[in-house]
Amino acid sequence: MMIGTCVWLLGTRLGFFTFLGEATRTYELQDLLMLSLCMSLGLVAASVRKSLKLRRAMRDRDGAEAQAESVARHDALTGLANRRLFRETLEARIQGGSDAAGVPRIAVMLIDLDRFKPVNDLHGHAAGDAALCVVADRLRLLRPAQGFLARLGGDEFALLVDPGDDLEVLARLAQGIIASISQPIAWEQGHLEIGATVGITTATEECRIAEALLHSADVAMDQGKRDGRATFRFFHLDMGHALKARARLEGELRVGIERGEIEPFYQPVVSLPGRDLIGFEVLARWNHPQHGILGPDAFITLAEETDQIAELTWGLMRKACADARQWPAHLQLAVNISPIQLRDPRLPERILAILTETGFAPYRLEIEITETALVNDLEAARTALTSLQAFGIRVALDDFGTGYSSLYHLRELRFDKLKIDRSYVEAMRLSSERAKLVDAIIALGSSLGLLTTAEGIETGSSVDWLAGQGCTYGQGYLFGKPQDKGITDELLVQWTDAAGRIVIAPSPMETTESRSGSNPILSAPPVPDHVAA
Ligand code: C2E
Ligand code: CA
Ligand code: CA
Repeated sequence: MMIGTCVWLLGTRLGFFTFLGEATRTYELQDLLMLSLCMSLGLVAASVRKSLKLRRAMRDRDGAEAQAESVARHDALTGLANRRLFRETLEARIQGGSDAAGVPRIAVMLIDLDRFKPVNDLHGHAAGDAALCVVADRLRLLRPAQGFLARLGGDEFALLVDPGDDLEVLARLAQGIIASISQPIAWEQGHLEIGATVGITTATEECRIAEALLHSADVAMDQGKRDGRATFRFFHLDMGHALKARARLEGELRVGIERGEIEPFYQPVVSLPGRDLIGFEVLARWNHPQHGILGPDAFITLAEETDQIAELTWGLMRKACADARQWPAHLQLAVNISPIQLRDPRLPERILAILTETGFAPYRLEIEITETALVNDLEAARTALTSLQAFGIRVALDDFGTGYSSLYHLRELRFDKLKIDRSYVEAMRLSSERAKLVDAIIALGSSLGLLTTAEGIETGSSVDWLAGQGCTYGQGYLFGKPQDKGITDELLVQWTDAAGRIVIAPSPMETTESRSGSNPILSAPPVPDHVAA
């Protein structure tokens, strides 16, 4: 209106309307009429301008909304769909098409990377991100035409495909995915190596809900991980049953820990070559009310996965320290600590509290940690190691040689002892290559000023050879299997000689075996060439 009024004012002042004067006179139109005409024109112009502006704002808003939608449904790093969009697509496809029996034609593949965490930890997050992007690109290439690919989070990807009529096709696709992801990924001067485990599920009459499908694929993938990784598994109902059994065991373990059903068993450790007992490794056993004595394979991983490992370990350590206080004061105890526990910044404090509570001297305690703990968080391990050693507690690197960068960790952290893994000790009896490795590990240990324990010694010939190479301690069935407190008490009495020395003497069978030469290992001693020379 303002514009119209102004136009009219200007028009009348400047005489723009004189040419209209005739017309107004002719048609006897008044100034007032002219004014309202101009005002109407102004009104139309203003509203056109406003509507154009409004349309532009709406277009901008729609664009921003679409962008926000896209961001909310895509993974920023790889550009793939995220979990939310994957679920929506899965639900839409479930609604979308079914076969004659009314079952949706859907297969879900869950792809979980193997060894991704060490890449992140050892090479940094930039390397981890680069690896994820390469994996995403490789998966894009392998995705079937109608397939829908997503990164569900972390190192977990998912692929939604038509199951076709032949499960073999899905199996081949999974194999292709695993093979492709396992190819080295170039990074800086070297390369990164990861793998993948795939869980596959297809919609069935019973299982046709998005949540259930994702869960079944997850269960199948978990099974693949347990079966050794770098493999694929199809979900089947037995896995569901296994899951239920696991849930039951988890509950029983919780109660078991509370009731003190987890008991320490003691395996002797001797010095070489004299076989003097220097102490025991504490190995957990579950005295289950229905199933009897269960080994650690049945419950340690479960305890780790269900957050019960700390409580389990502290209970076990308390009992072991109380038991060992009644034994000769020079006998030591070695306790296994799970990698997860090293993340607890108060770990050294907690251990010290148990030692104080039970009156067990710190210098009698050794903590065994595996390499996995170091790979997960080297800095946390370094801090824990330093504090434990400051309290006088020794730290041993367990299962040496089974990790993938043992030397790196030995250089980075100051251990007191190396435990050579049983697999080496077993194999050295059969292959001179392995024997050379064991020899090299012992030499490495002594060059770093570390004590060495060979695990899993089962034959007398291994003892002589290991002692000859300078291995400090030995542990294995040859000297004794893990036993409970009662039997250990009796054995201690048996092993103690008149002078009070505790020695595990060679068994008569061992000596006969040596003399007869019937042991194939003795007839072909595992002495490495360069040592023999
Ligand atoms: P590990 O720490 O390497 O313990 C040595 C394992 O080798 C024990 O198995 C022991 O019984 C077995 N072993 C020792 N000598 C011989 C031998 O001469 N021949 C053979 N064939 N085996 C031998 P176990 O007791 O079944 O323990 C298995 C693993 O479970 C342990 O391996 C350790 O990693 C874990 N574990 C046991 N107790 C605990 C615990 O309290 N806490 C944690 N975090 N892990 C534990
Ligand atoms: Ca151990
Ligand atoms: Ca070990």
